[in-house]
Amino acid sequence: MLNPETVEQCKEILYLYENCLSFADWRVRVPRPSWTAVRYQDEQLVWHEERFEGKVARLVLHEIDHTNGILYIDYLTSADELIPVRPSIDDRDPEPEAALV
Ligand SMILES: [Zn+2]
Repeated sequence: MLNPETVEQCKEILYLYENCLSFADWRVRVPRPSWTAVRYQDEQLVWHEERFEGKVARLVLHEIDHTNGILYIDYLTSADELIPVRPSIDDRDPEPEAALV
C-alpha cells in the first residue's frame, strides 16, 4: 500500500486499545472510525480505492498515521491512559508455573 490517503470514514467512532511495535510495552485506547475507505497505489503504482472494516480498518489507519508521523501515544490526553501490556511485578501470579498447566 503506497501513498495511502483516507477518502471516507464512518462517523461512528470506537475507542479500542492498540499496541505498537514502537512502544511494545504499552497499550493506548485510540478513537477510530469503525470503517474507512482508502485510496492507495500498489507496487505497479496503479491506484486503488478500498473499504476496510473493523480491526483491519484500525490497522490500516494506525499505519497511515505512521506515514504522517503520528504515533498512537499522540492520542493520549494523560499519562494515566498508558496501560502496561505486561502485569507489574505486584500483579504477577506468585506461582507462575501452576498457571502454565
Ligand atoms: Zn505502530
